[in-house]
Amino acid sequence: MALVVQKFGGSSIADVERIKNVASKAIREKEQGNQVVIVVSAMGKTTDNLIAMAHKITNDPPPREMDMLMASGEQVSIAMLAIAIHSTGCKAISLTGPQVGIITDEVHRKARIKRINAKRIKSALQEGNIVIVAGFQGCTENNDITTLGRGGSDTTAVALAAALKADVCDIYTDVDGVYTTDPHICPKARKLDKISYDEMLELSSLGAKVLANRSVELAKNWGVVIQVRSSFNDNPGTLVVKEDKSMEDIVVSGVAYNRNEAKISIMGVPDRPGVAAEIFSHIADAHIVVDMIIQNVGQKGKNDISFTVSKDDFRQALKISEDLCKELGADGVKSDDKIAKVSIVGVGMKTHCGVAAKMFHALARQGVNIEMISTSEIKISCLIREDDVDKAVRAIHDELELGESGS
Ligand code: ADP
Ligand code: ASP
Ligand code: MG
Repeated sequence: MALVVQKFGGSSIADVERIKNVASKAIREKEQGNQVVIVVSAMGKTTDNLIAMAHKITNDPPPREMDMLMASGEQVSIAMLAIAIHSTGCKAISLTGPQVGIITDEVHRKARIKRINAKRIKSALQEGNIVIVAGFQGCTENNDITTLGRGGSDTTAVALAAALKADVCDIYTDVDGVYTTDPHICPKARKLDKISYDEMLELSSLGAKVLANRSVELAKNWGVVIQVRSSFNDNPGTLVVKEDKSMEDIVVSGVAYNRNEAKISIMGVPDRPGVAAEIFSHIADAHIVVDMIIQNVGQKGKNDISFTVSKDDFRQALKISEDLCKELGADGVKSDDKIAKVSIVGVGMKTHCGVAAKMFHALARQGVNIEMISTSEIKISCLIREDDVDKAVRAIHDELELGESGS
């Protein structure tokens, strides 16, 4: 008997018909003699709608209350799915994150899982239930509800698969697997049979929504093999696995984009040791992750320091920067939230040259201006205008011939 964890995203359970479809997939798995744990997200665009509703009241809602609000979406889904499974005569039980003992730290809106007490799930499985767990949520040691960051149901699924030592961790979504880029933007995108944890981690961190980056991080640390596949057909999906020899020959495996970034520039910062440390430690103290950083060549003892953060953290980072600007005696703060980042990822870049030039050529040919660049051993990212994302992604994908198998 295998223990199977299946996760279904918002689009897979967007309406009652789709919930029934998920119920029949779960039942089929159970009838094959397996133990089944299902993790679900909120239905359709529920989470976006809940956030928009709060923002109609204030731009700065308390993070604790946002978690309370957002977690409600997944609670609707688990109950609906349990009702659907019951209606067929099968046994199922729905459980929230706190009920299954998903204990997190206290960082609301992007909490990290500290531990899982899998006892309740195990006994519910033993009693013959299909166990349905609300994704994206947990609770602190003090019983406050937390959420795990957008897309966090993937993280719940992988964490449960690790805690339960599951045999299978299938992430069902609205595409057939992980592609060379978002198939909804680039029709020539090609489905990958497998991808290494490190490449997937880079793609997700750089914006590929198909898996939440923390879920990949957990999968890598715990050796969980993830299969990303479609909830609308039975096609084999993409396996996210340890790097193997065959992957080293692939120079670039994918193009990612992220529209959820904003840029802040602190102008005329006094050019002295310790200033950057001061700025970025204040930002880090607020649990804000900084992405790209550029310091312009100093003039008259002053520098401009620009950096990007997630749009979710933009207002808070801007407020901190404005306070710091006064404290440091800098000239002023500029901000820009109409930017986006396009990136290419591939382990083969470690040993191949000329890839960056190809990416820049592709952007130049489309008249796309590059505002910032950052690189690592296996990725290159360019900051561009938000409106240019679609054409930039297609042009880079074409230039690197990613649509053609074997490239
Ligand atoms: P779910 O609701 O199932 O969690 P998401 O919307 O979070 O689904 O993630 C799936 C989406 O990720 C796809 O519909 C696709 O538009 C997007 N995506 C971005 N990059 C990729 C990629 N490289 N491969 C597949 N899908 C991608
Ligand atoms: N419902 C949450 C979100 O929209 C979690 C998830 O979908 O994985 O971010
Ligand atoms: Mg998702």
